[in-house]
Amino acid sequence: MAALNISRLVLRSSKLRASPSHLFSAQLLMQMQSSPFTRKACSFICLFTFASFSFTDIPTSHCMSVDAHTVASQLNSSGLLRTQGLIGGKWTDAYDCKTIKVYNPATGESILDVACMGGRETNDAISAAYDAYRSWSKTTAAERSKLLRKWYDLLMVHKEELAQLITLEQGKPLKESIGEINYGAGFIEFAAEEAKRIYGDIIPAPLSDRRLFVLKQPVGVVGAITPWNFPLAMITRKVGPALACGCTVVIKPSELTPLTALAAAELSIQAGIPAGVVNVVMGNAPDIGDALIASPQVRKITFTGSTAVGKKLMAGSAETVKKVSLELGGNAPCIVFDDADLDVAVKGTLAAKFRNSGQTCVCANRIIVQEGIYEKFAHALRDAVQNMKVGDGFGEGVAQGPLINEAAVKKVETLIHDATSKGAKIILGGKRHSLGFTFYEPTVISDVNSEMRISREEAFGPVAPLLRFKTEEDAIRIANDTNAGLGSYVFTNSIQRSWRVAEALEYGLVGINEGVISTEVAPFGGYKQSGLGREGSKYGMDEYLEIKYVCLGNMNKE
Ligand code: ADP
Repeated sequence: MAALNISRLVLRSSKLRASPSHLFSAQLLMQMQSSPFTRKACSFICLFTFASFSFTDIPTSHCMSVDAHTVASQLNSSGLLRTQGLIGGKWTDAYDCKTIKVYNPATGESILDVACMGGRETNDAISAAYDAYRSWSKTTAAERSKLLRKWYDLLMVHKEELAQLITLEQGKPLKESIGEINYGAGFIEFAAEEAKRIYGDIIPAPLSDRRLFVLKQPVGVVGAITPWNFPLAMITRKVGPALACGCTVVIKPSELTPLTALAAAELSIQAGIPAGVVNVVMGNAPDIGDALIASPQVRKITFTGSTAVGKKLMAGSAETVKKVSLELGGNAPCIVFDDADLDVAVKGTLAAKFRNSGQTCVCANRIIVQEGIYEKFAHALRDAVQNMKVGDGFGEGVAQGPLINEAAVKKVETLIHDATSKGAKIILGGKRHSLGFTFYEPTVISDVNSEMRISREEAFGPVAPLLRFKTEEDAIRIANDTNAGLGSYVFTNSIQRSWRVAEALEYGLVGINEGVISTEVAPFGGYKQSGLGREGSKYGMDEYLEIKYVCLGNMNKE
């Protein structure tokens, strides 16, 4: 039954064309039945197999750009399809055998059931990480570097399958999923390199008989809680530096997208990273979070997600005085000055706004346009957005997939309704897409002002609200008028203005004439309530290190 359901899912989501061989299907089924895979995983693979029977009536425009057979056989043979948590190197069911469903947002149908864990499993994962820490923290930087490099290599070897998994459970277009694998794996590669550069210091001593040293040491067991919008990258940018520094981790991925996390964890094992260094639990988020916070063995919490949950974790961490890194919500301004290059501004805004259907914390949330270029820019942006193809992430040429769930669509609807009721005008889109499910039309709204909810809250959807400003001072004031301070964008051809505005913006990231600026080699993090600490780059390493001062005294003795 599950297989049949899932076969419908694939048919509806990927609109496969006929081509397949029934013989191949039968062979694959036999192969799967003799494999050590769980029944659940098997039924997932069956879906691809069953889906291979002839369906010639599917429109070519929706044709899946990947071959389902290949996905199935690759997932099967590489062992990347996991449904259990990982505790101390063992794939483990929830202790009460509870499961939770993972859905394909493009169809609303369930893909697989995964273990629904809670406090007990988390405590065991913490113990496993704590035990593994004793030996992992003693390994040389060179050893850790080699293992991380192997993990990176395996992520790249399995790039296609991992990308397909991301599109399946998260919905983003396959091309963006491949981009995420490159970006996400990049954090592991960077960490492998940086592991060898965790230098201490020698400080000139104020007294002649002393020698002063600074050592950098791993902070200990790390709890890493991650969201659904980047199922791989949000994990690797925490786990890469943590492992490089000698820490061990308990990962809690989002329950909406655990499959990519589990596949990445499987590859960490295949890379030879010792048991207990990487653990994964998922299921009851508050119970797992509470266990991580309560444990004195967990010395660091690193979190990406909502501001509300981040504040809760920060408050909870006070009890055991843990180190905390938070990457929370944004409200990114995208400022377009009269002197901007129109094409560059439109292209940059499109990328900053509509990537991942607007579901990133650095997505442009307010597009603040100077009055002289406002009309021209609004028309050009509308035309560009109009050309974006919406559809299943596996479809050819699709630029925008579905939103993650119904709640996400409702939020967008509420914000648009609030804005239009206060005078904003929809110039494109503004409603659910005819594809149904959680597809939403790419939308542009003009005449938005700072009082509307859409200017004050993160829409996290494909809506571009246009605000108008007169002077540079106005633009900076409007941009900074928020508690958030993560991503920001500026479009101008004046080098002087770009410096002035970049310095004045109260944001952790500023893109000038560029809409996508995240990279593993640069620091990512927010001002104000957008978070604490930085991820990526050499600065991201510090988050997983303690600084120890060593004073060698009585050094003048013969
Ligand atoms: P989003 O809106 O992006 O889903 P959340 O903050 O709800 O943001 O989720 C981000 C991550 O935090 C997810 O892994 C989620 O399961 C987890 N989470 C949610 N609530 C809690 C909690 N009370 N304690 C710990 N983690 C939580």
